[in-house]
Amino acid sequence: EMFGQLTSGLEAAWNKLKGEEVLTKENIVEPMRDIRRALLEADVSLPVVRRFVQAVSDQAVGTGLIRGVRPDQQLVKIVNDELVKLMGGEVSELVFAKSNPTVILLAGLQGVGKTTVSAKLALYLKKQGKSCMLIAGDIYRPAAIDQLVILAEDEVVVEFVERILTCGSHLHSQVVGVPVYAAGTAIKPAEIARQGLQEARKKNVDVVIMDTAGRLQIDKAMMDELKEVKRVLNPTEVLLVVDAMTGQEAAALVTTFNVEIGITGAILTKLDGDSRGGAALSVKEVSGKPIKLVGRGERMEDLEPFYPDRMAGRILGMGDVLSFVEKAQEVMAQEDAEELQSKIMSAKFDFNDFLKQTRAVARMGSMSRVIGMIPGMGKVTPAQIREAEKSLKLMESMIEVMTPEEREKPELLAESPARRKRVAQDSGKTEQQAPPGTARRKRRSESRRQFADTSARPGIDKDFQ
Ligand code: GDP
Repeated sequence: EMFGQLTSGLEAAWNKLKGEEVLTKENIVEPMRDIRRALLEADVSLPVVRRFVQAVSDQAVGTGLIRGVRPDQQLVKIVNDELVKLMGGEVSELVFAKSNPTVILLAGLQGVGKTTVSAKLALYLKKQGKSCMLIAGDIYRPAAIDQLVILAEDEVVVEFVERILTCGSHLHSQVVGVPVYAAGTAIKPAEIARQGLQEARKKNVDVVIMDTAGRLQIDKAMMDELKEVKRVLNPTEVLLVVDAMTGQEAAALVTTFNVEIGITGAILTKLDGDSRGGAALSVKEVSGKPIKLVGRGERMEDLEPFYPDRMAGRILGMGDVLSFVEKAQEVMAQEDAEELQSKIMSAKFDFNDFLKQTRAVARMGSMSRVIGMIPGMGKVTPAQIREAEKSLKLMESMIEVMTPEEREKPELLAESPARRKRVAQDSGKTEQQAPPGTARRKRRSESRRQFADTSARPGIDKDFQ
């Protein structure tokens, strides 16, 4: 099983919560220690582990139990969602150029599976109906050129290589069937890139994939060569191929290559081996660059997109629990919504309800994510989102200094300037910023209606309409 050790390490955490009725600061200490240990043993980078554990424990104690869900089940769900987030959330698709050809430049250290990936990627794209051409750029390893030619097979476009047919390839049962541009080992990679690109334009192929030389470790010559090739090709994608077996080291490499040459993502190979998960879990968080594709075997078909949610699901191996918790969440959200609606209808919506709603939104993730889910809100800028988040924070801090009575009866504030002033002062703000339904709104019924409508909150209304 992929990441089997990680899976069983995490299992220990859930098991410790069996029999508990709630999640508390105290009873999650042990499970959190298990999670921490499991991640470290999987070779996830330490800062990533720290942030992860913090985020999970915050949520575990900060959110109430979903009705009908046991503490251990809820923790599984929280860990799952954080794992998905850690790995980048959404699948990160390959980007194609607006006009042909799309150029994909592959980089990576020796032995990580770069040459294999070139051919796999060509097959992958070919299956999507795209015509491809490979450029063999690994001039320091003549066998790599042959390997690529053999992998890709058949129609070699231009090939003035002294072909050394020493590959003896055992892996490549499937013929990829795409042309390879090879120019031997005597010409510099940047020149090969230039010629190859010219050839690709002539043939009007959709995608050009260039394999480059890998070395045993990072050195200046390799980086300079890559920069030069990148300049010539002006690629749409620059993908670093990394080996899952190298754990968090893979994430460090992605960072280095990104800083040095600027990359668009990573391809993680050898996920079928006994890698522990550290690379898959660290790359995005450490480097900021997504894993776009993964290699899961030696066959040419073994390349697929990297789906963070499926990966998390495989790591946890708790599909049933996850779908159960999600169902329970939906039911509860539905019930809450109905309760809220009836409160609004009967004009009983108070500051407590407002706070509950705000926090429910906060639980769903960052404001940007929530806003992203609202149709037509795609054009909201990050600055506007920050502004909105600020005003919500402000509202929260004001509600926090209100008396329980004031929270339940917004009209008390609406009727009393003295109360408004006190709330404003106690929350460290001026009266101008007092919540709606107080300084700004006069009629109670109107204030409630406005209040229930997110877009009418102060600070948001001017930005969001
Ligand atoms: P390069 O030096 O980076 O070009 O590496 P190669 O493409 O020559 O691959 C090195 C070795 O790793 C070969 O034996 C490949 O068959 C193997 N390999 C590449 N990708 C994978 C993978 O996803 N899974 C497994 N099990 N082996 C792989």
